[in-house]
Amino acid sequence: MMPPANYPQPDTKAAPAPTPSRFAWDEDSQALLIDWSDGTASSIAFQRLRENCPCAICQGEPGMAGRFTSAEDAGLTSTEIQPVTLALVGNYAVNVEWRDGHNTGIYTFSRLRQLGLPG
Ligand SMILES: [Zn+2]
Repeated sequence: MMPPANYPQPDTKAAPAPTPSRFAWDEDSQALLIDWSDGTASSIAFQRLRENCPCAICQGEPGMAGRFTSAEDAGLTSTEIQPVTLALVGNYAVNVEWRDGHNTGIYTFSRLRQLGLPG
């Protein structure tokens, strides 16, 4: 016996992860704006972006505390939250260089999606 035509089928093809289609600095709101391939947009404050820099210097590594390991105010200076350049890394991430010279953070697209969510 054949199942009815509307019998639910397992979803075998998940939607591809969205990728950024455009980046822009918004100097007025001090935020990184991202347009995504799925039509959505993200706005990530520079300070939030810097505090979530995923590199070992900022987040620490086993046996070494990072700049932002503590939840306390890390005392970011104005140059530390001023991005200078943003460069694509392959087709999965971006590298941000900050005015204080810090440039070791590689932000994956999925991380940027998370950071763009409220909260
Ligand atoms: Zn870092």
